[in-house]
Amino acid sequence: MKQFNITYENDEKFLKKIEEIKQWCESNTAYTLIFRIYSIDMEKEHIAHVCNLLDENMPDALYFGCTTNGNILDGAFIESNILLTCTIFEDKSTQAKLLQYPFTEDNYKDAVDDLKRHCDENPWVNSIEMLATIMNMSMKGYCDEMSTLRKDIQVFGGGAFNPDLDDETAYVFSKGNGFLGHGIIFLMMGGENFHTYSTFIAGWKPLKRRFRITKADKEVLYELDGKPAFEVYKRYLNIEKNENFFSNTLEFPLFLEREEVNILRCPLSVNDDNSLVMSSDMEENAYVKIAYGDPDTILSSIREDGQKVADFQPEVIETFSCAVRRAFWGDVNISKETVMFSDVAPTAGFYTHGEFIRIDDNMLNFNITLVIVAMREGDPVGEKIDFRGPTFKKLDKIPMIWRFVSFIEAATAELEAMNDKLSIAAITDGLTRLYNRAEIERRINKALENIEGEPGNDKVHLIMLDIDNFKKVNDVYGHKEGDDVIIALSDILRQAADGLPHASAGRWGGEEFMLLLEGNNTDEAMATAEKIREAFAAVDFKISGQHTASVGVTQVIVGEAADKMCSRVDNALYMAKEAGKNRVVRLDS
Ligand code: GH3
Ligand code: MG
Ligand code: MG
Repeated sequence: MKQFNITYENDEKFLKKIEEIKQWCESNTAYTLIFRIYSIDMEKEHIAHVCNLLDENMPDALYFGCTTNGNILDGAFIESNILLTCTIFEDKSTQAKLLQYPFTEDNYKDAVDDLKRHCDENPWVNSIEMLATIMNMSMKGYCDEMSTLRKDIQVFGGGAFNPDLDDETAYVFSKGNGFLGHGIIFLMMGGENFHTYSTFIAGWKPLKRRFRITKADKEVLYELDGKPAFEVYKRYLNIEKNENFFSNTLEFPLFLEREEVNILRCPLSVNDDNSLVMSSDMEENAYVKIAYGDPDTILSSIREDGQKVADFQPEVIETFSCAVRRAFWGDVNISKETVMFSDVAPTAGFYTHGEFIRIDDNMLNFNITLVIVAMREGDPVGEKIDFRGPTFKKLDKIPMIWRFVSFIEAATAELEAMNDKLSIAAITDGLTRLYNRAEIERRINKALENIEGEPGNDKVHLIMLDIDNFKKVNDVYGHKEGDDVIIALSDILRQAADGLPHASAGRWGGEEFMLLLEGNNTDEAMATAEKIREAFAAVDFKISGQHTASVGVTQVIVGEAADKMCSRVDNALYMAKEAGKNRVVRLDS
C-alpha cells in the first residue's frame, strides 16, 4: 500500500504530480488507485475541474470526496483549498468499489439495503469508508440499519461539511456519479491481505452535575430535568440565546451516557420554546452531563490510542476529526493532537460534521470526536515504533480556565457530599439513627398509596412499641441510662428491619417506635413483633438491669388513610399496656 498526497494549486503542478504517480505505478506493482478529494472550496466547478483532470489523466483511478471544514495533511491542519490523497493497493487481492446514493431521512434505507446487497455479492468486503451529508438529519435510523451489516465489516467515516460552521451547504461526489447535496458515498474495501484498525478519541471531560433527558425527539432536546433544555446553558454557563449561541456552546457539549459507549453531542441552536437543536439524536431518559475540553485529558487519550495505532503498523492513516475540535484548539494548536500520527504512516483527512465508527456491531455517530483509521496490506513489516505522544509541555491555551474548572469540580464534589449528608440528616433521628417521625409518616403514606388499586394486596403492617415504665429509668438511673435503653431498643429494631425485604424502622417520639412492614403477611408481622419484644426483654443493662416494651400490631384496611391505621396501632399498643405491659396485642379493625 502506498500513499501520495497532492494539494491542488494549479493545473501545471497538479499534472506534474500525477505524472510522478504514474511513473511510480509503472516501476512498481499497482493494482488499484483511489483518490480522496477533500475541499474547503465550495465552488462545484472548481472541484469538478480537478475531477476532470483525473478522468482525463488517470482514467482507471477511482475518486470520491466531499466538502469539508478544513483538511489534514501529514497529520496537520493545512490551509490548502483542495487536498487529494492517492492510495495505491499493491496487492492483487485487494479490491475496492465505490457506491453513491441520495441520502435523506426518507431514503437512507434504500442506500443501506443496496449496500448490503453489494456486501453479500462481494464477500471480500471487510471495510467500508463512508462520506455523507448529514446536516439537519437524524442518524438514528441509519445507524440502526448499518448495525445489522455483516459482523466482520468495519465501518468508519465522516460527515461532509463547509468551511463556514454556520453554513449548511455540503457536497459529496464520486467518479461517474456527480455531486449530491444530500448524498452518501461508500467505499467498499477488502481482500485477504487488506487490514484496517479503527479507533476513536474524544477526551472531553464531563462535569459532575448530571441531568436527565425528560423530553427529546430525534435531534431536538426539549427538556432536561423537566425544564426547557436551554435553561441549563443559561443558568450554568450564562450563555445567551443569540447569534453567538453555537460558538459559545461548542466548548461545552453534552456528554450522553450510553450503555456501550458515551458520546458527545453539540447544541447547534435554540428554538423559540427553549428547546435545543443538537448535532445528532438524543435519547429520552438517558443522562447527560456538560462536558468541557480538557487539554490534558485529550492529549493523554491520544497518547494511549496512538500507541495502539502504531502497534498495528499501518501503511496509511486516515483521520476524521470534528470541526468543533478545530474550533476548540484554534488553528495554531489543532495540529498538535494529530501530527504525531504522521511518524507512524502518511496521515491525511478532514474536519467533519459528525464522525462515524462501528464498534462491535453498533454503528455510532459521534460529535467532537477524532476517528482514526489505520490501513495495511499484508503482514506488518519492520519494527514496531514507540508512539510519540503530543510533546508540548506548556499549553498555549490559557490554563487559568482549567484552574477554575478544577475549583468548580472540587467545590461541586464537596457540595454533593454535604448535600448527601444533609438529606440523610433530614430524615434521621439524631439519637437513634432510625428514621425520624416525619420520614416514617411519609413512608407509611407512600406504602398505602402503593397498594391502592391493587385489590388483595393488603400486606402492610404497623408495629408500634413503647418502653414500659420508662419514666422510672430516667428518675432512678438518670437520663443517660434512659438514652442507652432507647438506643438498645433502636438497635434491635434496626436489625429486625434490615432482615426483612421492605421494612422501615422509625422513632415515633420519646421512647415510642414504629416499624412499617411491606410485603409480609400477618403471621410474619406478629412473629417479628414477638421477636423484638423478646430480644429487648433479654437485654441486661449493666446499670439498670432488664426492661420491657409493649407492642401493638395492625394490618392495613385497603383504602384507609394513614392516620386511621396509625391510631389503630396506637390503640393496640394501649391495649397491651392495659393488659399488663410486656406483650404483643394485635388489633385488626
Ligand atoms: P408506660 O409504661 O405507661 O409507657 O410508662 P412510662 O413511664 O414509659 O411513661 P411515658 O411513656 O409517658 O414516659 C415517657 C418518658 O420518656 C417521659 C420522658 O421524660 C422520657 N423521654 C422522652 N424522650 C426521652 C429521651 O430522648 N431520653 C430519655 N432519657 N428520656 C426520654
Ligand atoms: Mg411513651
Ligand atoms: Mg413508656
